[in-house]
Amino acid sequence: MKSVPSFTPLSVPCIQGNEWEYVRECLDTNWVSSVGSYVDRFERMMVECVGTRYAVATVNGTAALHVALLVAGVEPDDEVLTSTLTFIASANAVRYAGAWPVFIDAEPDHWQMDPNLVEEFLKNQCEWRNRRLVNRETGRRVSAIMPVHILGHPVDMAPIIELARQYELEVIEDAAEALGAKHEGKPVGSLGDLACFSFNGNKIITTGGGGMIVTDDEKLAERARYLTTQAKDDPDEYVHHEIGYNYRLPNVLAALGCAQLESLPEYVYVKRQIADQYARAFQDLPGIEMMRQSPNALCTFWLSTIQVDDTALGMDSRQLGECLKAAGIGNRPLWQPMHASRAHRGCTALIRGVADRLFRDCLSLPSSVDLSEEAVNHVAQKVIETGIETNRRAVA
Ligand SMILES: *Cc1c(COP(=O)(O)O)cnc(C)c1O
Repeated sequence: MKSVPSFTPLSVPCIQGNEWEYVRECLDTNWVSSVGSYVDRFERMMVECVGTRYAVATVNGTAALHVALLVAGVEPDDEVLTSTLTFIASANAVRYAGAWPVFIDAEPDHWQMDPNLVEEFLKNQCEWRNRRLVNRETGRRVSAIMPVHILGHPVDMAPIIELARQYELEVIEDAAEALGAKHEGKPVGSLGDLACFSFNGNKIITTGGGGMIVTDDEKLAERARYLTTQAKDDPDEYVHHEIGYNYRLPNVLAALGCAQLESLPEYVYVKRQIADQYARAFQDLPGIEMMRQSPNALCTFWLSTIQVDDTALGMDSRQLGECLKAAGIGNRPLWQPMHASRAHRGCTALIRGVADRLFRDCLSLPSSVDLSEEAVNHVAQKVIETGIETNRRAVA
């Protein structure tokens, strides 16, 4: 048996392809900054990968979300439905646009935005006033839905798109964690009016920091490109009609992105193998359940995540996390749901206790693409030993 490293990190980038070559070319040719052939090439590769007509590279995923909301027509004091169980960047981006999030709880099976609660909110809490959909309680216009595909698993988009059509809402997918995932055979990112990706260091592919807006709509793409490049209105003269942003991705980072994207199919394959190995290892262990893929989805298992039943296991998720850390195994809890975050206090929220429970019970396990089968086995065995050990102590 191969030896396993003394510390197994949660998730680290895998640099194994053409990264050095492409970055070296940028450095050798001095094309390092916000214009350059790799930015165009990275955008073209994303278009091909996601299947939308346009892609606009940005400096990170949060900036992509901010601009996507703006070009979708979200205005100050509007409301935007989004997942309560997400990384805070989703909700923050809504506030950057001056709008307010409406937090929707997760469904218990795959932990994604619950379409039933979206319907409940739109049907029961909203009404049309002067052809504007308004939240009856706050009096604010409801203009968009931003479902977040968390942990590499797609949201059940079909009913959400149907509702968006019915209520005339724009759909912006936060696909930051789900590049490579599919819903009913279609790539995540091609399902809404706009979608955003992140290439932060811990995502499935990375540019160090980076993001992308994708869309089929030429006008939206053009406007996104305009707003992310300081809203410059003349090719030569420095003339601006609007306030824009410095949100463009530097060429040297796009070069990294091109090389990383070439490896995406392999990374998705490996992440799914890792998840499969965990699922098999835990299938007979009471108290631990691996996240599950929906029958209409292809999940990338960006982070393999388990749900701990503390009564059955004899310890809760945080205690297990501590034990694993002591054994040199990186892990982390899910995000505090946004409706409970002090940063987003007071927003409308449709909550049934699911996200709160998942926050309490879930733990993400090492999921790096370069993890060997032995290393995954080592992690799984540590989890199992820890569980059995606690149960034995409880019985004795
Ligand atoms: C990572 C992430 C973002 C933000 O992306 P950055 O590139 O870090 O700005 C947004 N939403 C979700 C769900 C994320 O996981």
